[in-house]
Amino acid sequence: MTEFYVDLHVHIGADSQGRPVKVSGSRKLTFENIAKECFSRKGVDIVGIVDAAAPGVISDIEQLIDSGEMTEIPGGGIGYRDRVVILLASEVETSEENRGHSHHLILLRTLDTAKAFSRSLRRCVSNIFFSTPVCAMPARDLYRMAMDTGAIPFPAHAFSPHKSIYGNCVRRLDDAFPLELLDSIFALELGLSADTDLADTISELSEYTFLSNSDAHSLPKIGREYNVMLLESPSFDETIKALRRKDGRRVVANYGLDPKLGKYHRTYCPRCSRTFQHESPPVLVCPECNSASVVRGVLDRITDIQDYSAPKHPAHRPPYRYQIPLEFVPGIGPKSIDKLISKFGSEMAVLHTAQEEELREAVGNKAARLIIEAREGTLPLVAGGGGHYGKALINDG
Ligand SMILES: [Zn+2]
Ligand SMILES: [Zn+2]
Repeated sequence: MTEFYVDLHVHIGADSQGRPVKVSGSRKLTFENIAKECFSRKGVDIVGIVDAAAPGVISDIEQLIDSGEMTEIPGGGIGYRDRVVILLASEVETSEENRGHSHHLILLRTLDTAKAFSRSLRRCVSNIFFSTPVCAMPARDLYRMAMDTGAIPFPAHAFSPHKSIYGNCVRRLDDAFPLELLDSIFALELGLSADTDLADTISELSEYTFLSNSDAHSLPKIGREYNVMLLESPSFDETIKALRRKDGRRVVANYGLDPKLGKYHRTYCPRCSRTFQHESPPVLVCPECNSASVVRGVLDRITDIQDYSAPKHPAHRPPYRYQIPLEFVPGIGPKSIDKLISKFGSEMAVLHTAQEEELREAVGNKAARLIIEAREGTLPLVAGGGGHYGKALINDG
């Protein structure tokens, strides 16, 4: 078996006709460009595109298959140039009675599954043409509907404050899902502001496979979080086996941002415009103005609902490795990023395998040192909150 780089949460900005799909997404984020970016710059082998139930995207896929540019592969998924496999998926927003909204990802095996799911979804969402359609049903009904079409649903960015199952809906998954449904959910996406150490303080999560995905809204953000999976070959079926940890297939590592760099790591008070970096969690009301209308940080929420004060990792849990994407490394601009990618072949190679000596030749001593410090996790970090990313700083002296 071989290790593959897998990012299962990438959005479409627009279809090939220029019609917007994700309004806040980059227009360059088309189905075809995502495949190209993974192939030629990112080094991502399997990419999940989560707007594949939108009709404009479906017709783009049909066209790419008809022209021979892409092909459906036998194990499920769409192949591009013998190296990148695209998994079709859909992100959907649901709402719990008297509680909040949450996002869920649904993996779709084939284009036919995507079409069937799109037809069912169309009946219960206000606008099927846009990204992350809002569906007037609780998550459990969406999961039943998805499973009926043979699709695989799981919670997206499970702890984020505005739109997630733990963030603003429930303290325990069995408050949202009946047991027979819970038994058929086997994965959960951590989101940028959480990691395995945080999620493994919640006892009911020990059987789940954790995913670290980018939730990219632009091409450069693809792969800022990803999973390394051990698979026989890149396909939908093999990926699902890895999520279920069957026949030796598994996630062997999660690579993600240090959760401090995520946009919602700590509680933020909009009234005081402050993120509470140093207060011990959970911060649930603003320590300055006592307002309870704060944007609850992921660390604060998890601390509030956790069963253990320190993580208890189950034996199957792979390591979570922090990575600082090149975009976040201080002093590395778009020009240096282009130079690095053309020298080393992909961002993955720059971040993980390039030697300091070689980096120096490409971008000079100072930048090379910063990339190595980012890799070693020695850059000082300021936590994000309230929708603002955290920051990596330069070490003094
Ligand atoms: Zn989402
Ligand atoms: Zn998303």
